[in-house]
Amino acid sequence: MAGSREYEVEGIVVRHAVVGERDRIVTLFTAEEGKLALVARGALRPGSTLGPRVDMLSHGRFRCVRRRSLDLIAEAVTLSSFGRLKSDLWRMSCALYLAELTDASTAEGSPNRSLFDLLLAAMSRMDSGECDDRLLRVFELQLLETLGFCPSLRRCVNCGAELRPIENGLSATLGGVLCPDCTPRCPDARPLSVDALKVMRFWLSHSLDAACRVKVDVALGSELEGHAVSFSRWLLQKELKSREWLSRLRSETSLTTPGGDSTIARRVESE
Ligand SMILES: [Zn+2]
Repeated sequence: MAGSREYEVEGIVVRHAVVGERDRIVTLFTAEEGKLALVARGALRPGSTLGPRVDMLSHGRFRCVRRRSLDLIAEAVTLSSFGRLKSDLWRMSCALYLAELTDASTAEGSPNRSLFDLLLAAMSRMDSGECDDRLLRVFELQLLETLGFCPSLRRCVNCGAELRPIENGLSATLGGVLCPDCTPRCPDARPLSVDALKVMRFWLSHSLDAACRVKVDVALGSELEGHAVSFSRWLLQKELKSREWLSRLRSETSLTTPGGDSTIARRVESE
């Protein structure tokens, strides 16, 4: 039985740091407590049983001991090491991006079960071999929703006008869609196509699996990525190294991912 000094969490390792010669500081994103920084004592010692269980991206159950400073991981049981994901450079890089994004956009002491479930679902999907740009875009958008920063996609966020099925604008600063009259007055607004608006609405109202089935062609994928970058910069006020690495990897290896045709949004029901 866990005493008052002990507690258990289910978490995914989203960051690592080395302390001294043998210890690690491990940042977990947990189902119960949100983000937690913990010490994994002896994790770097040769033959350590704890070491592999606190590897980056590992998913497990962790028994922890409270201390005045950082709590200790006393014991860990691996639920998934995501070995298949880690054997592929592209999927591994995508997973590290999701981990860094989750870490950078959250603070310790803020439980967020929806975000934990989203991260675990995305990583499980990657581990099963399903990993393309759509998964990243859906994750980014649904992450904003779990954090309470969901873009407003129903009415113009400036004047309240109902949106028409024409090109509108999307502003991260104002947190949503702008009608054509208001778009020019917002410096950070980016053109938002009818298809992109339909897809974003669909992604926000469906599960990760259903959202990832929507076909997205290259042009639309590029537009959606531009909006995602814009919201990410607004939210984090910085660039993520793992995102820059993904861009380099894609351009250097011509790893293009989205499969699909140009009829995507026509298949997405208007809501
Ligand atoms: Zn307006």
